[in-house]
Amino acid sequence: MQSESEVLERKLSRAMGRALGDFSMISEGDRILVAVSGGKDSYTMAYLLRLFQRKAPVNFEIEVVNIDQGHPGYPGHLLADYMEREGYPFRMVREDTYKIVTEKIPEGKTFCSLCSRLRRGILYSLAQELGCTKIALGHHRDDVLQTLLLNLLFAGKLGAMPPKLLADDGKNVVIRPLVFCAEDEIRRFSELKEFPILPCDLCGSQENLQRKRMGRLIDDLERETPGTKQIMLAALRNVKPSQLLDSGLWKTMGLAVADEREEQREGTLVPESRLRSKASTPWVSEG
Ligand code: SF4
Repeated sequence: MQSESEVLERKLSRAMGRALGDFSMISEGDRILVAVSGGKDSYTMAYLLRLFQRKAPVNFEIEVVNIDQGHPGYPGHLLADYMEREGYPFRMVREDTYKIVTEKIPEGKTFCSLCSRLRRGILYSLAQELGCTKIALGHHRDDVLQTLLLNLLFAGKLGAMPPKLLADDGKNVVIRPLVFCAEDEIRRFSELKEFPILPCDLCGSQENLQRKRMGRLIDDLERETPGTKQIMLAALRNVKPSQLLDSGLWKTMGLAVADEREEQREGTLVPESRLRSKASTPWVSEG
């Protein structure tokens, strides 16, 4: 009989494999910079990617990277020791973004937006330096769903997180292999594997409160109606562009509304058959 850890490993591997395949995330000869923060998600991603590497139909390399951002008391050695013990190709890079962020952001304001922009910039430069063809980030299903609601309710746009994107610098390709993986399964897997988790409150910044709120809302819905999260995820994989009100999208999809006179003559707008869903491309530029 399989242990709980083995069951979860299979489940998470399957979900990751589906994402890798659906969005052609890894190609022959890729060298992937795997960004680890010391949290449960990136540990799990590194673990699963290495597992996949051993039996994948394509050859690729991984380079696990952590950025020590200069937060006081950062216990990076826990992560470094683990990576060394487990034989991962690993490097830690020190860049004091903490100093920049605390100087630039007024007291009481959250650091996260600038901090993560700086971190992303470091990763992009590093990937180029190391000759990496892709950068893997550990965002999972629940991050995707929270972003969907944040965009819908606070940004006035319908979108979540691209599973694969070409960065604005036109050079770096970011992949998110865990987009189909459930956070609670990652959490449990990480506990069972005893990954040495690094605390994430050293920066003293407030967490993104709206994101937390979206997380709670989705968790409540899931409690009331189990399966809600999977249904939300299914919705993201089953987009009906013609049932949205984005005229630009209509044009892109070749659904432009016919000439008004013609419509009147024919007593119709666009025929229903033309409004059937066409899959939208997951390969998008960074927005
Ligand atoms: S929680 Fe801290 S380390 Fe993480 S993004 Fe925000 S400021 Fe940066």
